[in-house]
Amino acid sequence: MRQRVLSGMRPTGKLHLGHLVGALQNWVTLQEQYDSYHCVVDWHALTTHYADTSEIVANTFHNVADWIGCGLDPEQSTFFIQSLVPEHAELYLLLQMVTPIPWLERVPSYKEQVEQLSDRDLSSIGFLGYPLLQAADIAVYDAHWVPVGEDQVPHLELTREVVRRFNNFFPDAALIEPQQILTPTPRLPGLDNRKMSKSYNNAIYLSDDAKTVQNKVRQMYTDPKRVRADIPGTVEGNPVFMYHDAFNPNTEEVEDLKTRYRAGKVGDVEVKTKLSVAINNLLDPIRERRAQALARPGYLEDVLIEGSKKAQAVAHQTMERVRGAVKLKY
Ligand code: AMP
Repeated sequence: MRQRVLSGMRPTGKLHLGHLVGALQNWVTLQEQYDSYHCVVDWHALTTHYADTSEIVANTFHNVADWIGCGLDPEQSTFFIQSLVPEHAELYLLLQMVTPIPWLERVPSYKEQVEQLSDRDLSSIGFLGYPLLQAADIAVYDAHWVPVGEDQVPHLELTREVVRRFNNFFPDAALIEPQQILTPTPRLPGLDNRKMSKSYNNAIYLSDDAKTVQNKVRQMYTDPKRVRADIPGTVEGNPVFMYHDAFNPNTEEVEDLKTRYRAGKVGDVEVKTKLSVAINNLLDPIRERRAQALARPGYLEDVLIEGSKKAQAVAHQTMERVRGAVKLKY
């Protein structure tokens, strides 16, 4: 039996380069070796977007087209929708019984998001429970591995703690303590050097056209001390060079640019032009596959409906076991 991988994304907007290098690239490599499940977590989207849910379904299809664009294969991996598998909600409810509220209040993303998304009222039980619902998403598939970006590490830690506590009360549940799998770029900065995020307006989207990518790269934050091309610049921690490392496969070119940048012998225009060429080369086949997936009538719907049935069969088995462990079997 192959071990299972589970990971999800919220359908709250378009996918960007951070999703690609933080998570999707691992999803693609892992699908060869593992029994892979990938979930559009639409209930998670509701935790922050409950006041306007009109875009969630459209985002779901666009996000899944991006997954396929990036090389995820629905024949190899199972794609499904969280809300089509209500077993997630049942396990979430049972986990709530053993989870102390302070464990959720101290998750770093909780306070951070409440502060950063100050235009929304996030004082709900739903938002506080976000990482616990995520714990249920993972545990209901007995998943061992969760390929995610760095921001998710505290959520995985919480998942392990909650699972351990649940197993202490109900040993026959035998829930698995999952581990994260990170990529070499677990946190991609955005154009402004904060984390790349849909909510910060600092992202290059997988669906941006070539011209938009060029314009965005041109605006990128770089070494602020370097007001002229002949001033030696800093490469370390400079997002433009982080992007070269992540997206430019021509390592000789990247090394040459770094050497000349440190010596004050290259202009930002050359460094950025070469970067947008590299990003566009990477995005071209993604754009093509994504357009093909969107052009096939009913294709993505079928993939998601079939995948959700398959996912539900697995989740149903886990819940039979969990109900037995809790001694609520009638
Ligand atoms: P979300 O859009 O928050 O649902 O994130 C989906 C996945 O993409 C999660 O595994 C995140 O950790 C990952 N991710 C999102 N933004 C970034 C980023 N800027 N760098 C690396 N990974 C990211």
